[in-house]
Amino acid sequence: MGLIDIASNNSTWRGLDYYKENRVINYSKVNDNQYEGVVSNSNGKEYDVFMDIEHPRRSKCNCPHAKDRRVICKHIVALYFTVFPDEVQKLLKEVEEAEKEYEEYEKEIEKKLIKYINSMSKDELRQTVLELLYDGPEWMYDRFIRDNIEY
Ligand SMILES: [Zn+2]
Repeated sequence: MGLIDIASNNSTWRGLDYYKENRVINYSKVNDNQYEGVVSNSNGKEYDVFMDIEHPRRSKCNCPHAKDRRVICKHIVALYFTVFPDEVQKLLKEVEEAEKEYEEYEKEIEKKLIKYINSMSKDELRQTVLELLYDGPEWMYDRFIRDNIEY
C-alpha cells in the first residue's frame, strides 16, 4: 500500500493544499525510501516530518494529530507530494476516473430503472406509486398531499 492509500481523505486533500502553498520548508533524502523535512503549519508553526515510502506506517510527524500515533497527517502528505510531484497528477487523474465511473454507474442504474418501469402494467405502476407515496419519505408524502389533495 502506498502512503497516499493509507492516508485519510482529509489528510490527503489538506496535504495537497500544503504542497501547493509551498509549506515544505526543506527536506533531505535519508536513503532511497526515507526522507525527512520541515513543514510549516497555517499559523507558522513548524513540524519535523519523517517519511518512509516503503513502510508508510513508519512515517512520523511531531504535530499533535500524528505524534505517537501511526497516522499519515497532512504534513507527511505535503512532504510526499513535494518529493514526488508526479504523484499529484496521478492522484487527480484517479479521482477524475473514479468520478467518471460513478457517473456511468448512475446512468446504468437509471437505464435499468426506466426499463423496469416500462415493463410494468398500469395496475402495477398505480400500486407502486401508491406504495411509494404511502411508505416513502415524508417530503414525498407532504408534497403530494399539499399539491394534489384539497381538504
Ligand atoms: Zn503532522
